Amino acid sequence: MKNWLTSLCVAACLMSGSVYAEAHHGGAHWNYDDHGPAHWGEFGETCAAGKAQSPINILTNQTSSLEPSKSITLAESVNSNASIADNGHAIQATIDNGGKLTIDGIDYKLLQFHFHGKSEEMIDGKQYDLVAHMVHKSADGNLAVVAVLFNEGKKANPMVQKVLDNVGKTTSINPSELLPKQNDHYFHFMGSLTTPPCSENVKWYVMKEVQSATKEQITAMRHYYDHNYRPVQPLNGRAVESK
Ligand SMILES: [Zn+2]
Repeated sequence: MKNWLTSLCVAACLMSGSVYAEAHHGGAHWNYDDHGPAHWGEFGETCAAGKAQSPINILTNQTSSLEPSKSITLAESVNSNASIADNGHAIQATIDNGGKLTIDGIDYKLLQFHFHGKSEEMIDGKQYDLVAHMVHKSADGNLAVVAVLFNEGKKANPMVQKVLDNVGKTTSINPSELLPKQNDHYFHFMGSLTTPPCSENVKWYVMKEVQSATKEQITAMRHYYDHNYRPVQPLNGRAVESK
């Protein structure tokens, strides 16, 4: 009995020792609470030092017309398997073989989409109930993210429902069903990842047509994370373009 207790103690002590080491030597995990956005500089220098961070508050009367070379051509209509999971910060659908968008002749392949509730982006100071971020990557490693905003309404969103119904599972999806019908109207700016390491040079496209999700859907999504949004960041003179 004494030996058993001793070995239990050794295991427990080692465990608490390693948790301590993690929490105090950079291995701790960032989150939206005790290791929240104000501390993210400890997890990624750019989160604190960057000058082109996301999200932002888009002031619609301070936008300029989109330069044609920055417009996006969307080709997201593919049927692909997606594994839907809680990634520890958001509910995410990781796409096996997604569609793509094209900017100035360069293809960016859809890798995953995930949800934040409330929205990270603001438009004229308004925060929305949910946002989906569709993360795309080019062959040379550059990122382009399409944001789709949701507000509570009477109409349920089929893709939000599909994601909610399949957390922890693999299912077949068509990512184009997440896009608004009018997907050629959007805001564009240069920004960053909204989570550590907050890397910059990310091309952001925020769809103007806000989608509807029901109160039940929004509540069900927020059941996982109810404040996984980073506060808006200073614009620092960046241009916001509008199409
Ligand atoms: Zn995101």
